[in-house]
Amino acid sequence: MENKRVAVIGGGLGALSGAIRLAQLGFSVQLFEKNPKIGGKVNEVVLENYRFDTGASLLTMPFVIDELFDFAGFKRSDYLDFVPLDPICRYFFPDGSMMDASADKRKMETAIAELSPNDVKAYKRFLKYAERIHDLTAEIFMFTPIHEFSKLMQPRYFRTLFRLHQIDPFRTVHQSVSRFFSDPRLVQLFDRYATYNGSDPFQAPATLNIIPYIEYGLGGYYIKGGIYRLVEALEALARERGVQIYTAAEVERICRVGKRVNGVQVNGETVDADYVLCGADAVVAYHELILTKNAAPKPRTRFQIFRNVRAFSVLSMLKARVLGQGHQHQREKVNQLEPSLSGMVFLWGLKGKHPKLAHHNIIFSSDYNTEFRQIFKHQRAPDDPTIYIAITSKADAAHAPVDGENWFVLLNMPYLAPGQMWKKEKVRMRTVVLNRLKQLGFDIADQIEVEQVYTPEDFAKLYASNRGSIYGVSSNSKTTAFKRLPNRSRLLKGLYFAGGSVHPGGGIPLVMLSGKMAATLIAENHKSKDL
Ligand SMILES: Cc1cc2nc3c(=O)[nH]c(=O)nc-3n(C[C@H](O)[C@H](O)[C@H](O)COP(=O)(O)OP(=O)(O)OC[C@H]3O[C@@H](n4cnc5c(N)ncnc54)[C@H](O)[C@@H]3O)c2cc1C
Repeated sequence: MENKRVAVIGGGLGALSGAIRLAQLGFSVQLFEKNPKIGGKVNEVVLENYRFDTGASLLTMPFVIDELFDFAGFKRSDYLDFVPLDPICRYFFPDGSMMDASADKRKMETAIAELSPNDVKAYKRFLKYAERIHDLTAEIFMFTPIHEFSKLMQPRYFRTLFRLHQIDPFRTVHQSVSRFFSDPRLVQLFDRYATYNGSDPFQAPATLNIIPYIEYGLGGYYIKGGIYRLVEALEALARERGVQIYTAAEVERICRVGKRVNGVQVNGETVDADYVLCGADAVVAYHELILTKNAAPKPRTRFQIFRNVRAFSVLSMLKARVLGQGHQHQREKVNQLEPSLSGMVFLWGLKGKHPKLAHHNIIFSSDYNTEFRQIFKHQRAPDDPTIYIAITSKADAAHAPVDGENWFVLLNMPYLAPGQMWKKEKVRMRTVVLNRLKQLGFDIADQIEVEQVYTPEDFAKLYASNRGSIYGVSSNSKTTAFKRLPNRSRLLKGLYFAGGSVHPGGGIPLVMLSGKMAATLIAENHKSKDL
C-alpha cells in the first residue's frame, strides 16, 4: 500500500462514506473519531425504556445511500429498510388548522384544496418550477465538486450558466414562495424548506426551492429501526472493506512537511498518512488543526532528514512566509462563512399516547419573520419558536413502552454568539414549548418520564461543530454555494474535506455526496501522480 495511506478525521456520515469508497479503491484507511461512538450528528441515545435518534430524523434522496452500497459491492436492502413516509409531515398552523403533507400528488393536492382551494394550481406550478431548478442545478451543485475548474467546464453545465435566471438566485426563498401562494399558511410551509440546510427563508436565495421538489417529487423516508441504523450499516461496510476505526481518538493536529500533509496527531501520537480526509467541521479544523503552530513529525527516513535540512534554507524560509500569508488569507476566508442554524433538542420519554400526532410534526410559530429575525439578526432564542416533533415509536413500537411515546423535539436556534445564556434559555424554552403544546391539547408536562436536553453549546462540544451549527454553513447569501469551502484544500497538498461545512452542504445525502467527491478527488490525484 505504498503512498496509499489515508487518515480520516471524524466518524460523521461524510467522512464514513469517503472512507468506505477509499478502502474499496484500494487505499489503506484509518478513521479517528473523538467520541466513544461514530455517527456524529446522526446518533442514538437510550434513556431507560425509550430509544431516540438524537439528530437527523428524515431521510431524503435515499438513492445516494444505495449508490454507496453498490459501489462497495453490497446490497442496501440486506442492511437497511427504507420506509416511505405518508404523511411526510403533519403541520399545525397558528390559526388552529392542520394539514398532512404528502409526496402522493393527489393526496397533497386534496390537502391543499381543503386548506386553500385557490392554491391547488399554485402548488402544481410551484412543483414544476422547483423541478426545473432541480433539473438545472442538481448535477452541477450537488453531484460535482464545483471548485474544481476542470470538472465545471463541461458543455452540459453551460445550459445552467446560460439559464441562470431560471434557477431563481436573485429573490429570497420567501419572496418566491409568496409569489406562488396566496394563503400565508402555505407560504410558511414552503418557506420552511430553507431550514433543511440551516438557512433563513427571508435571506436565502430562492434556488433553495429545489428542496421541496426533493421532498415531494422524490419522497421522504424513515429507516426501519431508527436513522442510526444507517451509521451501523455503514460501519459494517467500512469494517468489511478493511477500514480501521478508532473511537475515543481525537485528532489534535494535521501534520505537514512544507505544504504537504504527512499525517495526523492523535491522542499525542503521530500517525503517518499520505492523504488526510477531514470530516470534522472544516472551519473548526482550519482554526484548531491546521492554522496552528504545526510541528512536522520527527524525521525517520533519509528522505525526510534531507527535507528537514532543506527546511533551514533561505528558499524554504521564503516559502514559509508565503505559507504564513496563505494561512492568514485562509483564516479570513473561513471567518467570513456564516454558520447554519443551531438547535435545541428535548428528548422526552412520555407515559401517554398522542394519536393526533403523526411520526413527523411541525407546530408553526405565529410569526415566522420575527422568529428568524430573532435567530439570525439578534442571535437569540426565539420567543415563539416553531416546534418540530418526531416520534419514531409511531413506526417502531419497540422504541417506547406500550403505553408511551418517544418524542424528539427540535427548535431552531441561533449559532453561538456572545451574551447568550443557554442554561437559562433551556429552562425558558421548555416552559414555552410545554405551554404551546398544552394550548393544542397536548398536556404532557406530567407525562415526561425521562428527559435529555441539547443546546447549541452541547452541539458545539459534542461534535466540534462551528459555533454549534447543526448543518455546517448557512446559505443566507446568493454566493454561498461558491463560497462554501472546497473538498480539496488549496492550502495544503493531500488534504481533502467532507461534511456539512464544505461543498455541497449539510443534511444526510449531501454530506454523503461530499464524501464521494473527496474520495474521488483523492483517487484521481493519486492516479495522476502515478502516471
Ligand atoms: C438535531 C439535528 C437534526 C437534523 N435533522 C436532519 C434531518 O432530518 N435530515 C437530514 O438529512 N439531516 C439532518 N441533520 C443534519 C445531518 O445530521 C448532518 O448534516 C450530518 O449528519 C453531518 O454529517 P458530517 O459528515 O458533517 O459529520 P458530523 O455529523 O458533523 O460529524 C463529525 C464528526 O467528527 C468528529 N470530530 C470532530 N473533530 C474531531 C477531531 N479533532 N478528531 C476526531 N474526531 C473529530 C465529531 O465528534 C463528529 O462525530 C440534523 C442535524 C441535527 C444535529
